[in-house]
Amino acid sequence: MNGRNFIKSPVKCESEVVEFRKKFTVEKEIKSASLAVSAIGIYKAEINGKNVTDSVLNPGFTHYFKRTQYQEYDVSALLIKENEINIEVGNGWAAGYFAYNNQKGIFADHTSLIAELTVCYTDGTAELITTDESFEVYSSKTEFAEIYNGETINMCHKEMLLGNAVYDTEAAEKYNLIPMQGEWIKEQERLCPIELIITPKGERVIDFGQNMTGYVEVKIKGKRGDRIVITHAEVLDKDGNFYNENYRTAENKMTYILDGKENIFKPSFSFQGFRYIRLDEYPGEVNLNVITAVAVHSDMKRTGYFSCGNEKINQLYHNTIWGQKSNYLDHPTDCPQRNERLGWTGDAQVFCRTAALNFNVKKFFHKWLGDLRADQGQNGAVYGICPDKFAGHSGPCTRISAAWGDAATVIPWELYRAYGDKKILEENFELMRRWVEYQHSAGSEEFLWLGGYHYGDWLAMDAGGDSYVGATSNDLIASAFFYYSTTLLIKAGEVLGRDMSEYKMLKENIYKAFRSYFMENGMPKAELPLTEEVPGRKNKDAHVDTVRKGMTQTALVLILHFGLYAKNEKKALEDKLVQLIDEWDGLMTTGFVGTPYILHVLTAAGRTDVAYKLLFEERTPSWLYSVNHGATTMWEHWNSLKEDGSFWSTDMNSFNHYAYGSVCDWIYGQAAGITVTDEGAGYEKFTLTPHPCKELGFVNCTLNTPKGTVVSNWYYKGDDVYYEFVVPAGSAALLTLPDGRKERLSGGKYMYTVKG
Ligand code: BGC
Repeated sequence: MNGRNFIKSPVKCESEVVEFRKKFTVEKEIKSASLAVSAIGIYKAEINGKNVTDSVLNPGFTHYFKRTQYQEYDVSALLIKENEINIEVGNGWAAGYFAYNNQKGIFADHTSLIAELTVCYTDGTAELITTDESFEVYSSKTEFAEIYNGETINMCHKEMLLGNAVYDTEAAEKYNLIPMQGEWIKEQERLCPIELIITPKGERVIDFGQNMTGYVEVKIKGKRGDRIVITHAEVLDKDGNFYNENYRTAENKMTYILDGKENIFKPSFSFQGFRYIRLDEYPGEVNLNVITAVAVHSDMKRTGYFSCGNEKINQLYHNTIWGQKSNYLDHPTDCPQRNERLGWTGDAQVFCRTAALNFNVKKFFHKWLGDLRADQGQNGAVYGICPDKFAGHSGPCTRISAAWGDAATVIPWELYRAYGDKKILEENFELMRRWVEYQHSAGSEEFLWLGGYHYGDWLAMDAGGDSYVGATSNDLIASAFFYYSTTLLIKAGEVLGRDMSEYKMLKENIYKAFRSYFMENGMPKAELPLTEEVPGRKNKDAHVDTVRKGMTQTALVLILHFGLYAKNEKKALEDKLVQLIDEWDGLMTTGFVGTPYILHVLTAAGRTDVAYKLLFEERTPSWLYSVNHGATTMWEHWNSLKEDGSFWSTDMNSFNHYAYGSVCDWIYGQAAGITVTDEGAGYEKFTLTPHPCKELGFVNCTLNTPKGTVVSNWYYKGDDVYYEFVVPAGSAALLTLPDGRKERLSGGKYMYTVKG
């Protein structure tokens, strides 16, 4: 598409949508017709009153200066003789109030549109209609639209011609167009209300039974001028009242003004995260049959299915699936509801293995890794969020933090494992290498990463209940991830046949430096020198006191999982981890950083019994605590809702944060026992190591892999366990049964019994 033809409204807009319109005639017989469109903002395109696509929220979210996606649609079926093209454009991510501090227009102070309609005729000729000054610009009935704040759609709106479009030469200079790379964003599940609640405050609240991302559709005929005003919430408070303070300044408010005809209302330029809606204004009786919640997310294909005999674990699994659906909307977000919804790299990193088991995320991440590469600093830095207009500037989201920046190495490697496609590594090798070089250059010590700002073991519980950051030393986390990223870089390089000797030497040096600085007699030192710049968080003092600790669950988990121990120390480290769990009354204290690995480390230590104890734990911190408290998605904090019914806080308390859902990769990998090996990427080779457990009762697990369907099912009959496996043709699986039997399986169906 020719990037010069950006046009804009002749009138400056604040948050209102404008419509670009043009009439044209088609005289000859059409062979094909395609429309390419993009916008700085969000566009909705129609030809002759018909939507050109069933996808929504286009062109999606990217760093628009570097990468503005355009979409192409086959519109042959929509054209007639006399035609009209209408494209509405709202502020969206680019030009609206978005990101930190609700800043207006982080990529643009106005919306712009670019479109190209190519009509090919059967006589071999073709015609091109491009956005230019012949497009008329009208006011829209969507009088207000902002991602965070919602929309106002006024069916009584008196349309006004604002004038002819003007060329936006600045936009033509500023934005770089690229063909769409990601998955389409589409309407998915439709959920009916389960209950109309009159709250103790007397408010009318509708419960959809599922926390989700999308919007509410209302089909209604009312009196002209009647209003519907809807606000959204994820939870009710302890008294059963509507609660949305955790949305911070994001209003998530939909206002509809009726025109006396039957209307179907839903937003087109925003989305909301919610389970409940409050009807702030609604004419007459509420008919629940006309109100539907529509889930919206990237159109990823489901690949993983798991169920077991324990309903709470099934609910936990369900919650991670919905956590992913809710937060994979063109880019992996932390949460879908408050004034954030940003591509936090750390959250994406910790969840990506689970994500690639649940759904096919190859294309989704192909696009986002493109964003990550585009945002990588000249010095190799990878920032806290992506797409990140603020990279390199100051502010909390622009920090470069261990475990967040490591998305650059972990995600390409996990995608390669899942899909076995070397192109993923080729495309991202430099991203990975430059991130490792950044870590190499960070801090005063060459082979450690000391100092700097880090998000730390985010939301871990061992620094006191109110701390945002756990007790584990940031220096230890940063240096351990430096080692891990170097390990993954070497693996990637070896797959690609590159000479990795330089990085092998680096790895060896990090190992030595890590051990001499952080460990004593094979254990993490109990206290470590405090070199971190302490972030100015609200509970700063608690943080200063505790962040220097060496001997924490997360520290042990990282040392064990990343292989930072000497062979003869492994057992003592594992025993120490189990001891720390015991000392914490049988609970884990890990946050974002340690949680994804803790159960894996316990299983590798031969302590799956302890791993299961943690999985079935119901006190906080635990996965089932939120399940017991009615969660339908993953919570941001282990105790977002406290035992006494109060909330953790108002400022950082999402009920739809997928990070802790990373436990599912253990559920697939160890409870069901399906784990792809590094050498057999793409499920050419995988291990089957199920860990049956009476409390689970049975497991049915199916995974659609690039090689075909893998099945691992087991169930108890008395004390005996019956197994059923399917290995796809062309794959090789190494089966290890709990009685010690090991077998190599090729394509086929297998059944085993292990007597109790
Ligand atoms: C986000 C997190 C993110 C964190 C970084 C929060 O505001 O919601 O999920 O990773 O900031 O510390």
